[in-house]
Amino acid sequence: MKQYIVVSLILTPLLLEVCGCSCDRTNALAQSDERNISIISNDDSLKQKGTSMTDQKYMCDADWQEKLTPEQYRVLRDKGTEMAFTGKYYKTKDDGLYRCSACGNPLFSSKAKFDSGTGWPSYWEPYSDSSIATKKDYSHGMVRTEVVCAKCSGHLGHVFDDGPDPTGLRYCINSVSLDFEKKEMPDVR
Ligand SMILES: [Zn+2]
Repeated sequence: MKQYIVVSLILTPLLLEVCGCSCDRTNALAQSDERNISIISNDDSLKQKGTSMTDQKYMCDADWQEKLTPEQYRVLRDKGTEMAFTGKYYKTKDDGLYRCSACGNPLFSSKAKFDSGTGWPSYWEPYSDSSIATKKDYSHGMVRTEVVCAKCSGHLGHVFDDGPDPTGLRYCINSVSLDFEKKEMPDVR
C-alpha cells in the first residue's frame, strides 16, 4: 500500500501536466494503463491541429465525449460494435486511405481491403507498422484479438486468422472508427 501511495504521488503531478483538462485525471491514467499502448509518434497532421499524440493518448472521457459523436464514442472508447451491413464503408471499393476517425492516423489502404461477406470493412493488413496495435480481448466469453489505433488507442475492431493471402489475416473494422480519403494508392505486395 505504501508503495502504491508513493507511486501515485509521483505520477499524479505528471498526469496533471499531460492531461490539461478539467476531468478525472486518475481515470485517464487508468485507461491508458489498461490499454498498455506505448507507441510515440510525431504525426504532422496532429501537430497542425495543435494536438500532440501524448495529448490524445491521455485525453479523458469528457474530452472524448466532446470530440466524438455518440456513436463514435460508443465504438471507439466503449469498445462497441456497429451492426453488420449498416456501416458506411463495408461495400466501398474506391481507391483511398482509411484513417482513424478520432485522430486521423492512417490505418488501412484500399489495396488491402477485401469483401469478407461479414458486413464489416475487412482488410488483410494495416497501412503501416505505426497504424494499429493489438491486445487480447476476453470479453463476451470469447478470446479474441482487439485492434486499436496506435496513436489514440481508440477501439477499431478485431483481427482473425481466417483472412485471404498473402497474410491470412482478417482485420474486421467498424466503419464508424474510420474516415475514408479517396485518392490513388500504391499497390501493396
Ligand atoms: Zn486514432
